[in-house]
Amino acid sequence: MRDTTSQDDIICKSCGKICTDITDKWCRPCTINNLKKNFTNWTSGNEKIDDFIQKMQLKTEKHLDIIVEWIPYDQFDNIKKTSKDGFATAIWKDGLLEYNREERKRKRTPNKEVTLKYLINSQNVINEFSNEAKAYSIKEYNHIPKIYGISQNPATNNYIIVLENSCCKECGEIYMEIWSKWCRPCQINNLELNHSGNKKIDEFIQEMQLKIESVRDIIVEWIPYDQFNIIKEISKDNFARIYLAIWKVGPLECNYDEEKCKHKRKPNKEVTLKCLNNSQNVISDLLNEAKTYSIKDSFGLNNTLKIYGISQNPDTKDYIIVLDSFCENCGEIYTNTYYRWCKPCHLIQNFANWTSGNEKIDEFIQEMQLKIESVRDIIVEWIPYDQFNIIKEISKDNFARIYLAIWKDGPLEYNYFYRYNYHGEKYKYERQPNKEVILKYSNNSQSAINDFLNEAKAYSIKGKYHICDIPKIYGISQNPNTSEYIIVFKDGHYCKNCGEIYHTEIYKSNIRQVKWCKPCQINSLKQNFVNWTSGNEKIDNFIQKTQLKINSYYDIIVEWIPYDQFNNIKEIGKGGFGTVYSAIWKDGPLNSKIELKRTTPNKE
Ligand SMILES: [Zn+2]
Ligand SMILES: [Zn+2]
Ligand SMILES: [Zn+2]
Ligand SMILES: [Zn+2]
Repeated sequence: MRDTTSQDDIICKSCGKICTDITDKWCRPCTINNLKKNFTNWTSGNEKIDDFIQKMQLKTEKHLDIIVEWIPYDQFDNIKKTSKDGFATAIWKDGLLEYNREERKRKRTPNKEVTLKYLINSQNVINEFSNEAKAYSIKEYNHIPKIYGISQNPATNNYIIVLENSCCKECGEIYMEIWSKWCRPCQINNLELNHSGNKKIDEFIQEMQLKIESVRDIIVEWIPYDQFNIIKEISKDNFARIYLAIWKVGPLECNYDEEKCKHKRKPNKEVTLKCLNNSQNVISDLLNEAKTYSIKDSFGLNNTLKIYGISQNPDTKDYIIVLDSFCENCGEIYTNTYYRWCKPCHLIQNFANWTSGNEKIDEFIQEMQLKIESVRDIIVEWIPYDQFNIIKEISKDNFARIYLAIWKDGPLEYNYFYRYNYHGEKYKYERQPNKEVILKYSNNSQSAINDFLNEAKAYSIKGKYHICDIPKIYGISQNPNTSEYIIVFKDGHYCKNCGEIYHTEIYKSNIRQVKWCKPCQINSLKQNFVNWTSGNEKIDNFIQKTQLKINSYYDIIVEWIPYDQFNNIKEIGKGGFGTVYSAIWKDGPLNSKIELKRTTPNKE
């Protein structure tokens, strides 16, 4: 069923159209109109600059985009030159117009720290200046500095580009990464090198250190062997032995809690030590292997192993490559290193002790379990029937019955949201109790088990964020009284009212998963036909027909609206066919300002 409050929520209160950004209730056309209306209220005194600022303003596409402004020079306080030529930091007194999510409008945040870039003799080279200013971004999430506006120093007539605070306070360079305020030159200057005692290894470590491009990259080090507590040997062969260890001092990691990212040691880091036999004799082999590892976090997108440094066993003199940790259980590289997810180990741990009592069903469940590819995928299970509290029957036909139920223990979900590194909590599968599920009882499934399993195989095991029309399956159960087999579905795919499968919807060329049932919507509209009338059968028919054409959650429901519902009626234009008025629709279900079109009376 369509929820009227949620539809109400997606309509712009000013123009009555669907908001550009539904979540934050932001309307682009209205924003652009207001900016245009405001063009006459400011000027830089130079037509080309005005043009440029206007064009930048009209580029606004999202509520978080910056609205570039003309900023009078007396708005800046506390102007301080930086060590880099042509740059200064300053306080912008009134501050930037920023979108306030709570109040759903733009507000100024006063006393904003900004960077000023002075363009020498720019009053003569306005075209070049425009190119320069275009190199900055108005987007919230972008790794180049954001542009707030243009100003002019009245003493020199030099123009100024006003940027977000993006200069390193120590060296005056623009930050490599604006979001973290991380300065690569300063970082490189401050690096300290422990000496390995071997020139080639020292050179390798320096080379790896100079590769850093982001605050998240690993700073490869020479790590003295006494910094490790060996926990256990995981595996060995003729070339290497692999150990699980705790690196007591830990790697240098960015501390995100502070305003400016600073590297600090993260103690007691779990790492893998790969001890290469006789590596003191073949250092080139050691270094060639070490080069294959990455200093970048893959964020789970691929499975490259991270390298933290090189060490050496003082007794055997074997060199050691210090790597991100392997699965502590089986000693293999994790299926997904970022989430410490080892598919074989997790399957063994979670599903050793169960049986459905039917070989074919057991085989099917095992097959479905082996299909998982990611931490988000659903682990299909055998679910005992006493795990369910039935809430109601939703629908039935000759083949099946559909029920709404609560699964008491609930499905297994991998708690990958919490990064192990930052909270010290291990990733594991945890049950999400009291989960609402849909049960589909297939008639005669105990005698036609192959048909039943063929149907079950077609359902999806893709988890969170995977949008599709195919219902997602949690598992199989069996009613002990009738022996019927049951497919257990994730909530959100079947209408709880009629049992129809929901379809994905397209909104602004994005596919979205919405719980909207067209048959139920049409039924409720039909039932409501008796509750309103225009007094004219033809008009009623027209509105009814239009209502029944609704095809998407995002379509607007056309209604009969009594005239006394309108207030503040104003003529806004006349055309060949009618007069256009604007009005306030007092308490219509959309509670919005809409345009009302009326035919002019035909007088003879
Ligand atoms: Zn609007
Ligand atoms: Zn710096
Ligand atoms: Zn494992
Ligand atoms: Zn329905």
